[in-house]
Amino acid sequence: MPAKSTPPSHPERPSRYDVLFQPVRIGPVTAKNRFYQVPHCNGLGYRDPSALATMRGIKAEGGWAVVCTEQVEIHYSSEITPFIELRLWDDRDIPTLARMADAIHEHGSLAGIELAYNGMNGPNLYSREVPMGPAHLPVATFSHEPVQARRMDRRDIDNVRRWHLAAVRRAKAAGFDLIYVYAAHGLGFLHHFLSRRFNDRTDEYGGSLENRIRLMRELTEDAKAAVGATCAIPIRISLDELQGEAGLTHPEVEDMIGLMADVPDLWDVTLAGWENDSRTSRFAEEGHEEAFSRGVKRLTTRPVVGVGRYTSVDRMVSLIREGVLDLIGAARPSIADPFLPLKVEQGRIDDIRECIGCNICVAGDFTQSPIRCTQNPTMAEEWRKGWHPERVRPKGSDRGVLIVGAGPAGLEAALVLGKRGYDVTLAEAAKELGGRVAGEARLPGLAAWIRVRDYRRGQIDKLANVRVYLDNRLSADEILELQHPVVVLATGSYWRRDGVGRVHTKPMRVNADADVLSPTDVMAGRLPRGRRVVVWDDDHYYMGGVIAELLAEKGYETHYLTPASEASTWTRATLEQHFIQTRMLRKGVRIQTFRALQSIERDHVMATCVFTGTANDIPADSVVLVTARWPQEELASELRARQPEWSDAGIQSVSVIGDAYAPATIAHATYAGRRFAEELDGHPVTGDELPFRREITNLLPVDR
Ligand code: ADP
Ligand code: SF4
Repeated sequence: MPAKSTPPSHPERPSRYDVLFQPVRIGPVTAKNRFYQVPHCNGLGYRDPSALATMRGIKAEGGWAVVCTEQVEIHYSSEITPFIELRLWDDRDIPTLARMADAIHEHGSLAGIELAYNGMNGPNLYSREVPMGPAHLPVATFSHEPVQARRMDRRDIDNVRRWHLAAVRRAKAAGFDLIYVYAAHGLGFLHHFLSRRFNDRTDEYGGSLENRIRLMRELTEDAKAAVGATCAIPIRISLDELQGEAGLTHPEVEDMIGLMADVPDLWDVTLAGWENDSRTSRFAEEGHEEAFSRGVKRLTTRPVVGVGRYTSVDRMVSLIREGVLDLIGAARPSIADPFLPLKVEQGRIDDIRECIGCNICVAGDFTQSPIRCTQNPTMAEEWRKGWHPERVRPKGSDRGVLIVGAGPAGLEAALVLGKRGYDVTLAEAAKELGGRVAGEARLPGLAAWIRVRDYRRGQIDKLANVRVYLDNRLSADEILELQHPVVVLATGSYWRRDGVGRVHTKPMRVNADADVLSPTDVMAGRLPRGRRVVVWDDDHYYMGGVIAELLAEKGYETHYLTPASEASTWTRATLEQHFIQTRMLRKGVRIQTFRALQSIERDHVMATCVFTGTANDIPADSVVLVTARWPQEELASELRARQPEWSDAGIQSVSVIGDAYAPATIAHATYAGRRFAEELDGHPVTGDELPFRREITNLLPVDR
């Protein structure tokens, strides 16, 4: 039960936030406050253990009372290659895990570990073992592996119980305070036992609710009996699969929780699958899971933690006051701002770097690469590069810096250089800050993205050494006149109108009378002429789908053409593809897949099938080309050409960063800004040596 004592309020903190800093008892351990970093994947896992431990340690430093791992594979017979998670397969994995637990404990936080037996969620591509689940069914992974899981028999169930218990003991030996029984998201095998969708058993593990929860109960009781005196045993469960009667339903899961009410020490509640739990801001508001989690507390006396991309502190307070949750769970808000709790504690609400809900962080897991965050470019670079989300090195010289362009790259560079103590001048051609995010945040569903600008604007406003000039398009002459030793060009990019992209690496055939637009034109307010418009998406991220959605909303008869098998195909990595295509179809967009746009005429386009080359004409009054972008490098070229004038102008270096260097995601732009600011006056990066640390597997002797 949550403890009742309220710690003394921090002088700067409104007293209504005090409730968030009450300690909460979780079985035998106590969380120092109500901020709880729930398990989240990160693409670091077993490959980058020290980077991962340092990242989690920084969350603890930022005030999260509980900091958890991602899912940790407990046995070689259930691994989810190609995804890179942590492993606890045998005792040799304990030191890796212990390093993380130690990093978390260093700051007085509790360390949680999410033990996972994935069962039929893992094809076992690495171990080559046959996957197991409640039934004979194809493996249920994000890819469609041609592998089936086999139905577990009684011996298999006993084996997994024993393996789980061994992992529990190892987790305790590694120093963890909370050891999860993971039954959520359709990722853990317990979920498959809970759900009628996967469980067709007729033995004591199938059929009735009591039978379907039996294994979850057994694993929980085994763990409690083994380590329950010192470690808390939470259960993580999904309150609904959103599949209607075919899958787990909300009332059914509430009954399951009721049946095991006080068996675990905490209930961690989510939605399933992962795409429903981690919805982007394009498809769900903050707190979208509240309707499901609202009733859980009446079923148990144990504390309840839930998520909902919470960044509004008042909302968190009402969740506690209204008895919805005991602990505010966060994955993404803790990624975007590892110091969120400390900032609330100190009453520094304006300093919170709010998550924008874009799921670039999730893409790290899907691409098996270290997690990156649009808002927090230090993510996963804490150990690799020594970056810290809140602290920076003092400046290395008194050189003044001129930054041209205030998009995500320019703003981040200005902020970090400002914090380092440099004298910074930031010039922006437009009447507002933000560059591409100012335009993109006006597109359907992307409003929350403006937080990229607003956070940085708010922070820069506090720095007297950063001066911002809006409505100031600088020419090369002016830059030379301004005489700043360090010049940074963050002038961004614009979308091409010639069709060059992945399919066409040379300009496309376009009739001179055709009406051709780019996303840059649409964002600037230009609308297609006529009524029929074709959107050609050779970019495959969000822009093509968003533009099609916008035009359909405005009443255009919208055809969306892609050479891929589905709309916005890269958004599989951000868990959005299904939602995007559904919304486009519901808005009346006609989606044509496997089509390559070949030419644009005055009143139609010609497209071909990517397999057979068969051509067809589509009537069109206008075409929007979503293909590639042009870096705005004219200024850079001119300044380079005038290098002989630099020394008279006091210029020592001219650098190009962000989209002006090579267009990519907003996350790449904030990273580029950060990198420039971190590296100025530091060890020169020549490319001859690695600019980051990495760990290399220990070699064992080769036995022949
Ligand atoms: P990035 O993503 O790399 O930050 P953006 O396209 O978002 O790039 O932002 C670039 C910004 O640079 C835009 O706001 C644009 O108005 C501004 N800009 C481009 N050229 C100039 C210039 N010559 N002087 C000042 N600002 C410029
Ligand atoms: Fe939030 Fe996007 Fe950062 Fe993920 S990448 S934490 S969704 S801002």
